[in-house]
Amino acid sequence: MSGVLRIDLDRFAANLSRVREAVAPAELMLVVKDDAYGHGLDATVRRARREGVRWIGAFDVATGRRVRDVLGGDVRVFSWIAASRAEAAEAVAARLDLGVGDAELLEDVAAEARVAGALARVHLKIDTGLHRNGVRPEEWPEFTARAAQLAAEGCLEVVGIWSHIAEASDEEDDAARALFDAAVTTARQAGLSPTMLHLSASAASFARPEFRYNLVRVGAFCYGIRSAGGPDEEHLGVRPIATLEARVTAVDDDGASIDVGPLDGLPSILAGRVTVGTPGGPRALTASGSGFRVEGWTNSAPGDVVRIYGPGDGGESSATDLAEAIGTIGEEIAVRVSPLVPRIYSGE
Ligand SMILES: *Cc1c(COP(=O)(O)O)cnc(C)c1O
Repeated sequence: MSGVLRIDLDRFAANLSRVREAVAPAELMLVVKDDAYGHGLDATVRRARREGVRWIGAFDVATGRRVRDVLGGDVRVFSWIAASRAEAAEAVAARLDLGVGDAELLEDVAAEARVAGALARVHLKIDTGLHRNGVRPEEWPEFTARAAQLAAEGCLEVVGIWSHIAEASDEEDDAARALFDAAVTTARQAGLSPTMLHLSASAASFARPEFRYNLVRVGAFCYGIRSAGGPDEEHLGVRPIATLEARVTAVDDDGASIDVGPLDGLPSILAGRVTVGTPGGPRALTASGSGFRVEGWTNSAPGDVVRIYGPGDGGESSATDLAEAIGTIGEEIAVRVSPLVPRIYSGE
């Protein structure tokens, strides 16, 4: 056996509880894009549902449908990447809450709702500066007026207004928030009464109460992945829920060769830059040919387990520690674990 990813769902539940307490009275939308950041969508959304989470953020329509299949009807599922009329139809059929950031998609959703005899639930997206879809402020008055008209015709319900921010500098985020507030005012003047307002992801949800409104879209912190360069896990009160384990395949006078499984999972440039967890404490991860070694671990034996990253119980680094060593973010490490690496759950 080579690499496995162990996922502690009880710890996940504890993180959910911590995040919900931190953002209250705003509600948590658990973001599950990229197969729940590599942790496996099915098991994580099931556990989240058991813990009482009522909103799931599902990125694209296919993911939203998957969540609907797994959890059934009594959860709100928000998908925000839809481009085609076909996807609009799928979203309406699966009763997804759809993020809509352009006028054409708004018409498509309304048309599909009419065909289906259904009420489409939409959250209108204002572009507050990231330019990742979203309606430009100058087009917003016309867009919201049209949405109000379609709502009055009974084909859609404008549930929310939302946007996405960079969370890179407070100044830019403040400017985005001012645009957001103005957009909400404009929407209300157009006759809309959105009940859900959402702007922030993990970092701003914790650090900046005024960004919470009544719903926050949080992925990383729920999985215990802290922000690179940000506050540590202890400060946040969350812990990594995944441990990536590899196995020793051979031992020589200098250390151990290890197999982490399908190799696209771990960036090779980590070699020489990070430590991993062994029973004798942290040791340096180095390269050997196309694979990895653990230096100095000479008293190991084939089959022994090395922790590439995890919560730190075995002296290992966290995913974000590894990410910081190579100038990226913890999510990037987590989502690169190949789907061929088995996920083993505890607390299911
Ligand atoms: C990924 C994503 C989030 C969650 O971000 P985290 O930093 O992982 O909490 C929220 N909103 C949108 C639009 C996203 O794409």
